[in-house]
Amino acid sequence: MGNTLGSILGNAERLAALRKTGLLDSAPEEAFDRLTRLASKIIGAPVSLVSLVDVDRQFFKSVQGLKEPWASKRETPLSHSFCQHAVNSGLDLIIEDARIHPLVKESRAIPELGAVAYAGIPLIDDDGNALGSFCVIDSKPREWTQDEIEILRELASSVMTEVRLRSMVVGLQEIDRMRAELIAVISHDLRNPLTAIIGSVELLMSESRNISPEDANDFLKMIHEQGKRMLQMVEEMLARSRADADAGRMKHESVDLAPLLGRVIKSFQVGGHTNPLEVEAPSRLVIRADEGMIEQVMTNLIDNACKYSDPRSPVSVRLAERDQHAVFEVSDKGIGIDEGLIATVFQPFQQVNGNQDISGGVGLGLHIVRRFIEMHEGTIDVSSQKGEGSIFSVTLPAS
Ligand code: ADP
Repeated sequence: MGNTLGSILGNAERLAALRKTGLLDSAPEEAFDRLTRLASKIIGAPVSLVSLVDVDRQFFKSVQGLKEPWASKRETPLSHSFCQHAVNSGLDLIIEDARIHPLVKESRAIPELGAVAYAGIPLIDDDGNALGSFCVIDSKPREWTQDEIEILRELASSVMTEVRLRSMVVGLQEIDRMRAELIAVISHDLRNPLTAIIGSVELLMSESRNISPEDANDFLKMIHEQGKRMLQMVEEMLARSRADADAGRMKHESVDLAPLLGRVIKSFQVGGHTNPLEVEAPSRLVIRADEGMIEQVMTNLIDNACKYSDPRSPVSVRLAERDQHAVFEVSDKGIGIDEGLIATVFQPFQQVNGNQDISGGVGLGLHIVRRFIEMHEGTIDVSSQKGEGSIFSVTLPAS
């Protein structure tokens, strides 16, 4: 990547929007191929591309007339990309002769892709993020006419219509998946306690004279417990649906993680948790992030570490800067997770080790945590040993 391009190409909001299209690494589709075929034919250019510019490569959602191996690979490194410049400026990039053009004369695209003349229109979404470029390429110098550029613009806006439609379909599929999950929870996790509550109440009503006060009290306790558990589940499901709504309104602000962690730790200390928290953190570690989401990530991981270990067992929380990343790590000496089940803990409604009784939730916490971290272009890893403890480690880009 050219060092002057880093800021826009690596912009977290742009990259998140690009991932959200679901187009990166997706199979070719006729809807896009039709537009590149048309561009090549009408403009008379041997190559036409729908290029999505990622942080270190350009991926071709559609490719027409490009040489091998690039046509089959459907991507090139940025060293071979003119399109990155259209993304960087957000403006049309019209090049008559790349060999003498100051921006691209050194590009590997000239010798390796045979790119000499180029006309590219940035693909800009409704939030102003440039996702890539729709372009035509010729192997000899060429003066592009106003008409040709106009046609290219029209086709580029058809590409964006396809991208929007595609996002809507992905969104609808996600809603459908969530609806199926919700039905599964309602039919299993909510139906069972509800059946127990109704059965107990019916018994209390019909047998009120024959039941001892102690037994009646046990029934009431059970009803109270089950009711509380159901309320907790409903609240978690609402939190999850709020998380989905928040995803569309994610903020990108400067957040100093050190005082934020301080506040989170304080809330645990005054909130009745008994596990000693051992904290190691620098005095300042600023990243660009959504503060509310990161706070939820920290809270959730520390809460789990306390929940799934003995109340007197220490939990260690570490924040550090490593290789231009912020690393946040929570380790406990608790019950740990079965090796074969580690991979499932981030899936929605997954509660491993038969922990439902300790959990008090429905297994959505880590699913939301991972979702928030991925929205920040970060990663989360877990290493755990049954009976020994667990380490959850989050890595977030520092800028
Ligand atoms: P829950 O609401 O059940 O805590 P989570 O999504 O936060 O849901 O976690 C999913 C499951 O992963 C938990 O039910 C638990 O079995 C396991 N888990 C999470 N954190 C830990 C931990 N620190 N130690 C052991 N098991 C854990």
